[in-house]
Amino acid sequence: MKNYGMNWKNGCEKCPRLVASRTQIVYPVPCPPGGLLVIGEAPGADEDEIGEGFVGQAGRTLDALLVRHGLERNRDYGVANIVRCRPEGNRKPTREEVANCLPHLAAFLVEARPKMLLLVGSTAVEVFLGPGPLLWHIERSRNSPVLLAKDAHPILQPAIRRLHDAVACLMAVPMPHTSGMAWNRKAPSGKKWREIGEEQVLMAAEWLELVRVS
Ligand code: SF4
Repeated sequence: MKNYGMNWKNGCEKCPRLVASRTQIVYPVPCPPGGLLVIGEAPGADEDEIGEGFVGQAGRTLDALLVRHGLERNRDYGVANIVRCRPEGNRKPTREEVANCLPHLAAFLVEARPKMLLLVGSTAVEVFLGPGPLLWHIERSRNSPVLLAKDAHPILQPAIRRLHDAVACLMAVPMPHTSGMAWNRKAPSGKKWREIGEEQVLMAAEWLELVRVS
């Protein structure tokens, strides 16, 4: 894998509540250019302690799912979060905290150059695909990934335009939060979140394979 520069790292202190609650900043892990980038909401307790995204039970659930489809972390996919610091009590990050951290994510995206984003949970989905219930976004993308467009947060627009040029269209697949999958909860539709998540990951893996060989 390319040895990425570290210019997307920083010792940021923009969000006072998150600076107080974090143990450390959890930096993203790049994907190979043209590969898959998994984006979640924020680090949890395990991630905050270890300093890497998606390493708790929910993250391991996702890892196992991706491995089943031939996708291995570091080799095939990277991980990132909308905010890099753990909110206390695992609360949702505020709009202001999201806006504070998105320039970091935008810079990282431009450098990592993913072809596809796997958006995990409602916060990541809303930031990239716009407002609306998670299940509605998932239903819209049952058969093919979503082409990222003007629904994404304004702070991300310049980066998305650059990526559309660099990788010939940046696509995204929304999926449920991995904690709902790890604990085998049901979606409002009655279907298990795990089943919905598995279908979305399968679709992402198949499309990634398709665009790699085309
Ligand atoms: S969440 Fe992001 S913007 Fe806020 S303090 Fe952490 S690194 Fe900085």
